[in-house]
Amino acid sequence: MFGLSSPERVTDSVYLVGSSDLTDSRDCSVYLVDAGELLLVDSGAGVSAAQITRNIELLGLDPALLSTLILTHCHIDHVGGAAYFKERFGVRTIMHALDAGPVENGDPVRTGASWYGLRLSPLPVDVKLEGTEETLSFRDGTSLVCLHTPGHTPGSLSLYRDRGGERVLFGQDIHGPFLPEFGADLSAWRESMETLLSLEADILCEGHFGVYRTKTRVKAYIEGYLDQYGS
Ligand SMILES: [Zn+2]
Ligand SMILES: [Zn+2]
Repeated sequence: MFGLSSPERVTDSVYLVGSSDLTDSRDCSVYLVDAGELLLVDSGAGVSAAQITRNIELLGLDPALLSTLILTHCHIDHVGGAAYFKERFGVRTIMHALDAGPVENGDPVRTGASWYGLRLSPLPVDVKLEGTEETLSFRDGTSLVCLHTPGHTPGSLSLYRDRGGERVLFGQDIHGPFLPEFGADLSAWRESMETLLSLEADILCEGHFGVYRTKTRVKAYIEGYLDQYGS
């Protein structure tokens, strides 16, 4: 029941603090960004939220500095821990308006909760993004750009951050799946992937399959899925 792996440093201010290997088999990859305040990108399925918190401490960071939780989409493997982080640390939750409804209603189908055999209690979302692009600014002066990248779900978000000449992309569920019950849209997804390719990111933090480095490998990873799902 205790993971053998430790939280992982991705850059000097980005860390992997949860994943199916690290915390619980149902967890997505959970990333922590130190921006003078702490941001979480996704929160896991919920069962391992305390373990994710311990991983933050293991990195020598103070979870009391958690201020913001960005939810890349409404699936329970990404939003299940949100209630815990909101209750314990008072984080503000941010997601795209088109995926907020299923979380606020605790919709067992749209959130994938029934598929995972988990329950999601309805959770109000603090900030609902509506545009195609929004920039969030943080205490250390860095910013994080949120892009609406529909496809896997209608309100999927991808994020990127430039720091020290490096662009880190949080692309999350690039790989799909694309199921009608999730409101998936393959042609919207292809367009979203073209947007991600145009960012020419140096590092890709993926939603389940870990971290990819160098521009070339990031590009190849995204193009691999574009090939797989036809264009
Ligand atoms: Zn996922
Ligand atoms: Zn998903």
